Amino acid sequence: MLAWVASMAAGGSKTALPHAFYIPLIAAAIRFGPRVALAAGVTAGLAAGPLLPLDVAAGTTQTPGNWVTRLVFFVVIGQITAYLSHYSGSAIATERANRRFRRDVEEAIAGRQLRLEYQPVIRVATGELVGAEALVRWDHPTRGPIRPSVFIPHAERAGCVDRVTNFVVAEACRQASEWRRKGLVAGSTFKLAVNISGSDLDGEHLVAHLRDQLGKHDLPGSCLVLEITETDLVSNLDRALDSLRELRTLDIDLAIDDFGVGESSLANLHRYPVDVVKIDRLFIARLDTDPDGKNMLRAVIDLSHAMGVSALAEGVETGAQARVLRELHVDLAQGFVFARPQRPEAIDAMLVAPDALRTWSEMCLTGNGPAELATPAFMTADPVV
Ligand code: C2E
Ligand code: CA
Ligand code: CA
Repeated sequence: MLAWVASMAAGGSKTALPHAFYIPLIAAAIRFGPRVALAAGVTAGLAAGPLLPLDVAAGTTQTPGNWVTRLVFFVVIGQITAYLSHYSGSAIATERANRRFRRDVEEAIAGRQLRLEYQPVIRVATGELVGAEALVRWDHPTRGPIRPSVFIPHAERAGCVDRVTNFVVAEACRQASEWRRKGLVAGSTFKLAVNISGSDLDGEHLVAHLRDQLGKHDLPGSCLVLEITETDLVSNLDRALDSLRELRTLDIDLAIDDFGVGESSLANLHRYPVDVVKIDRLFIARLDTDPDGKNMLRAVIDLSHAMGVSALAEGVETGAQARVLRELHVDLAQGFVFARPQRPEAIDAMLVAPDALRTWSEMCLTGNGPAELATPAFMTADPVV
């Protein structure tokens, strides 16, 4: 069989010369890819034709059929080589990059390059601070700050997002217990939200880690909220539902993040054990540009309430948006207009003296503030990168 393939590849030639054409052909395919390999294959196929006298000398009858066979073999071998070398080359490069990234993440965790900031969550009816969303930050020693919107998707692809989630859960629980120890929060009145990825719900590891951390810090599960996008949830619904049922037994709330974009659909909400719907900021921004924006928002809020789910508006940037949210009876809100993500010490200060944030939020939500109210520090802090 091998002998037959070799002889066909040589187009029926008994001389070794046609085989020599494979050397530059394969080199071109590996170095330059399928297009150059095609050109080289055709050129080699055509050039091998004039070898006829040699074939004749070797006693082989060279026919046009043999010539075509050679040409076809040259082209096919060139394309296969180009495909294999490109595919295996890029797969190897990707795996090498992923391995390096996993090592960077381990170093970042061990070297305390990861930390959390907390963005206040406001009760819209009263303007009071009722919780915060933990947002991870990576202060890279040479590359500077790296945005979570950049490194979280990379961690998901590299298969190490569970390491980041474990860090975030442990650090959020440690911080929550510190606030309790200082007497700044009690019971589950102040909820800390943590973002998780779809793969975190595969298997038992997240639930086990949460159980460990809650136990270690003597915290009730009801002081935590896990945020996940619906896209992440549905991508592996059966297995995710098992984890979600376990989370229920720990009393941890579940929020659907970025609701209103991607695959989110109100029709599906009843399928998940959801406590909070976080309405995406694009929905809120639409209030300023789309005449139907308010009606769409009203529909989402009313339906959430009809299903016994709290509605949280995120990315609220203006007082005008905040006032519409109060008019539509949204439960909770979060956004730059109230406060940017903060270092934990700033949240300490807000918990110690809650009036500054409450007065500011009230003013945003009603539009009636004392004219002389100074813009508070939590509003003017530099945007987080
Ligand atoms: P997200 O979960 O939707 O988080 C809200 C993002 O919106 C945060 O960006 C926050 O700083 C920003 N934001 C808050 N208020 C406003 C506003 O009024 N206007 C605008 N334009 N933006 C606002 P950040 O911190 O850069 O996080 C980006 C995304 O990275 C998050 O989106 C989340 O998907 C992901 N992420 C952040 N921390 C974690 C984490 O610990 N674990 C996981 N798995 N993902 C995380
Ligand atoms: Ca979130
Ligand atoms: Ca979000």
